[in-house]
Amino acid sequence: MYPTLTSQVRTKSNVESQSGDQPNSSMKNEIRSSLDQGQKVDEFSKSTKYFINLAFGPNSKIRGCDDYWKNYSKMKLKRFVSIPVLSVITLVGFVYYTTLFVFIEDWIGLQSSAGFLNSLIFTALASMCVFSFLVCVLADPGGVPSGFLPDVEDSYASDQETKRNGVVPKKCDKCSAYKPPRAHHCRVCRRCVLRMDHHCTWINNCVGQRNYKPFLLLVFYATAATTYSAAIIISCIIKDWDTGASSTSKTFRIGIGLWITALSLTLGSLLIWNIYLASHNMTTIEYHEGKRAAWLARKSGLSYHHPYDVGFYKNATLVLGSNMLKWLWPTATSHIKDGLSFPTIRESS
Ligand SMILES: [Zn+2]
Ligand SMILES: [Zn+2]
Repeated sequence: MYPTLTSQVRTKSNVESQSGDQPNSSMKNEIRSSLDQGQKVDEFSKSTKYFINLAFGPNSKIRGCDDYWKNYSKMKLKRFVSIPVLSVITLVGFVYYTTLFVFIEDWIGLQSSAGFLNSLIFTALASMCVFSFLVCVLADPGGVPSGFLPDVEDSYASDQETKRNGVVPKKCDKCSAYKPPRAHHCRVCRRCVLRMDHHCTWINNCVGQRNYKPFLLLVFYATAATTYSAAIIISCIIKDWDTGASSTSKTFRIGIGLWITALSLTLGSLLIWNIYLASHNMTTIEYHEGKRAAWLARKSGLSYHHPYDVGFYKNATLVLGSNMLKWLWPTATSHIKDGLSFPTIRESS
């Protein structure tokens, strides 16, 4: 017998309070009921609904003069009023404009078929990057339902064993309430966040249970777009060299080229790091906690294994979903669970 630890919301009101502040819950129910009625709801219309819900709240269809909607929208849209968020938007606009209207134009011309194709591919990557970014900013990373109580099911679990596996029920001192496994208190958001990864200044939001996939895709599309842009800029610089452009023009282009290349390498490193974490089903916080746990285990002659690492493919499907066709779509998040309990290696072995 192995220890298992699950956490449940005990009362109906808790469930209601959880769904009440989740913009995608009502949307999910709506989609489910549509599917039940045999209606075909394609991914595009699902994403549109999801996005409208994220931006304007669960009652966006009847928003009219609804106070709840007004407050909800204000709260979400307020996240854009931040210097890092506005800097990202400005940066994306700058990179997009210079890549298309300066570099592609000078390299092969936007009117040529090759220029048109390159601008189309770059626009698609930049659009997906912006889409993922907006979802990351607007999505609720997941809060702990009020009245949440952990439920240690297995009486065989000794303190030593559960501590070693890092699944001890914990209480948050700031919220004075229990928090589910993998939840942490965010000092910026001033609440506990489910499966908290970190608080990201660039999206002015926490990265948690419900927006980890869009965050991962944001890093992926940002890396792809900046790498594509860097390749175009380098091609343009090579052409400039051959045609003997002025030294001022060359210096400007080399400067921009170096800066975009550095940006793509930084984002690429961040992408590799996040792929490593996701493939081990580990958050950034758990990575640092795991290092200490591994050190303590080694001192005691034991080995440490991250308790939520349930195998590469299963880990990938927990983040991205079981349908591989939807892996690269940031709003395809219907597979994401409540974030109150998680499969552990002991349960799956
Ligand atoms: Zn807390
Ligand atoms: Zn936060």
